[in-house]
Amino acid sequence: MPLLARMLPAPLTMQVRRGAVVELGALLADSRVATSGRVAVAVGPGQGDHIESLIAPQLDEAEVFRVADGSVDAAVTLGADLRKGAYEVVVGVGGGKTIDATKYAASLAGIPMVAVATNLSHDGICSPTASLVHEGGKGTFGVPMPLAILVDLDFVHNAPKQLIRAGVGDVVSNLSAIDDWQLGNTERGEPIDGLACSMARTAAEALIGRTDSIESDAFLTVLAESLILSGMSMVVAGSSRPASGGDHEIMHAVDQLFPGTSNHGELAGIGAAFCFFLREDKARVTQVVDCLRQHELPVVPADIGLSDEQFAEAVALAPATRPGRYTILEHLRMQDNEIRDRVGDYVRAFGR
Ligand SMILES: [Zn+2]
Repeated sequence: MPLLARMLPAPLTMQVRRGAVVELGALLADSRVATSGRVAVAVGPGQGDHIESLIAPQLDEAEVFRVADGSVDAAVTLGADLRKGAYEVVVGVGGGKTIDATKYAASLAGIPMVAVATNLSHDGICSPTASLVHEGGKGTFGVPMPLAILVDLDFVHNAPKQLIRAGVGDVVSNLSAIDDWQLGNTERGEPIDGLACSMARTAAEALIGRTDSIESDAFLTVLAESLILSGMSMVVAGSSRPASGGDHEIMHAVDQLFPGTSNHGELAGIGAAFCFFLREDKARVTQVVDCLRQHELPVVPADIGLSDEQFAEAVALAPATRPGRYTILEHLRMQDNEIRDRVGDYVRAFGR
């Protein structure tokens, strides 16, 4: 018999709601997640005490570990603790750094991981990658996707607003990444995965036209779903292609040249707007810029404290940050003076 369908890996459960941390015990009682009750919980340094006090009454058997930071060292230390304790599952509760370190630790220990996100700053909460800091800078490591994903809106409401808004930039950048993938397909014959594109695009389209913002539970729910769907599109694609194009190359270049300038999602958002400007896609660039403004996200270099010249330097370096990935930047192969002119035109068109 021919193949009837392709099987897709997906989390066992996905919940976006208030009170997810308080009711974590119910999920861990699910025998598909843990049978013997040997559960480890990993929390970050910031909110660790608070989270531990919330989960202690429901998980008296669980051992709680502190993850120092989002470094490879912290993840390796946790991985060794998990192996020693012969745990069945580890629950990572926190923001991106804690979740990424826990994902990597779980893969080292060979056990599944449950992600409980308290923040919505980027699409790593359910992706098959962990972004961790090491001696040489920042690296991306392939890991299994979480077995279950929970987003606690109570925590999200209390997280720094700037970080929640950043998630919007990361999701919207999918639209630019998909155009880049399409370009790679047309120009270079690179295989493209229609299902991965549809998931990544749907995630962005669900968000971009909304008139509410991060104060509303309804908006945060869609933002969380979009970030999770983006992560799953990368699982389907087997790479970050549907959610990372020239937009993310510019982000990586800014990170390398001017570390600490801004966060992942904010830079991805600016990168996406600038890439649509380069494509001369007037409708999309206007739509993306309007969306960034609506959520108080940066649009032009000055909004993140960079001069036009510095941003142009980052655009010039961008293709080298991701060798082999064909995007609008590799396609146009602009010289430095041309890049400076285009950045100038962009700022004149969209600066305030
Ligand atoms: Zn991203």
